Amino acid sequence: MFDLIIIGGGPGGVAAGVYASRKRLKTFFVTKEWGGQSVVSSEIQNWIGTIAIPGADLAKDLEAHLRAYAGDIVTIKDGVLVTHVEKSASGFSVILDNGETAEAKALLITTGSTRRTLDVPGAAQFEHKGVTYCASCDGPMFAGQDVVVIGGGNAAFETAAQLLAYAQSVTLLNRSGEFRADPVTVERVLANPRMKAIKNAEPTEVTGEKFVTGIRYKDTATSEIKEIPAGGIFVEIGLIPTTSYLGDIVELDEMKRIKIDPWTQQTSTSGIWAAGDCTNILYHQNNISTGDAVRALEDIYVHLHTK
Ligand SMILES: Cc1cc2nc3c(=O)[nH]c(=O)nc-3n(C[C@H](O)[C@H](O)[C@H](O)COP(=O)(O)OP(=O)(O)OC[C@H]3O[C@@H](n4cnc5c(N)ncnc54)[C@H](O)[C@@H]3O)c2cc1C
Repeated sequence: MFDLIIIGGGPGGVAAGVYASRKRLKTFFVTKEWGGQSVVSSEIQNWIGTIAIPGADLAKDLEAHLRAYAGDIVTIKDGVLVTHVEKSASGFSVILDNGETAEAKALLITTGSTRRTLDVPGAAQFEHKGVTYCASCDGPMFAGQDVVVIGGGNAAFETAAQLLAYAQSVTLLNRSGEFRADPVTVERVLANPRMKAIKNAEPTEVTGEKFVTGIRYKDTATSEIKEIPAGGIFVEIGLIPTTSYLGDIVELDEMKRIKIDPWTQQTSTSGIWAAGDCTNILYHQNNISTGDAVRALEDIYVHLHTK
């Protein structure tokens, strides 16, 4: 029986794991992978205290940090998925996809999100044949080509910035009339003469033969259907919280994000906390996930010692 189970090895989960070790909370830490979503980033420039770091190196640093302090307090189980969470007599049980289970008095969920897929004709058909969800993985394959990025948040602009290193031109299609990305990022990326952004552009179809040849979109201001020739379509249209394995053990919002009290990170179920991109907070960043998870850990510590 553990004091605490932490699910997820992104920045949120690892921050909580380090704090759990320092507070001597007997913890079971389980994650499928280390580092979380920005592991695919070629360069993260806002991880505080580090001027720039590739996502893969951040993942290694996070794992090393937790392992350095885990000692005999934090039991680490990586490469496995939690498939189910149940209430037990004295707390909660997690069931892993390798058949093992673990039980604890408290549970902290930091399982983050995954990318939302493009739902228009041709998008699924041409996935891995020009339609992609990872610029840093696939960008070099599109060297010298005209490519399109779909989305208008920070991830879309970061993707465009990465692609400008390889592509002949990058056109960003933004569904609404405003970009959600930080103005400083928008300004920096749009300053490149090979970069173009089109607002009020709603994708309607990915076109191609064996591979992608372009994308059709509706100009929502005029209702006109237009087409852009492109060899690659990079989709960055948001995230789906990783919460389906939780069933109804905690309350979710309409977007399937875990509802939390931002003062304490407590969920609707006593004994379960959640932090980071899987929760119904407004902003999603590495530093925010770590801060939220540390807040949760402080509250868990108080909860376990005053029960
Ligand atoms: C392409 C890209 C670039 C980004 N760039 C930046 C940036 O430059 N700066 C910045 O601050 N933020 C950036 N972000 C956002 C940032 O990555 C996220 O806000 C952050 O990773 C969220 O951390 P998290 O710990 O909440 O969740 P996640 O990072 O999503 O981590 C979730 C963890 O849980 C594990 N997991 C999920 N389900 C299970 C399960 N059932 N069982 C066991 N383990 C599970 C996963 O393997 C993963 O390790 C970027 C995001 C993307 C997609």
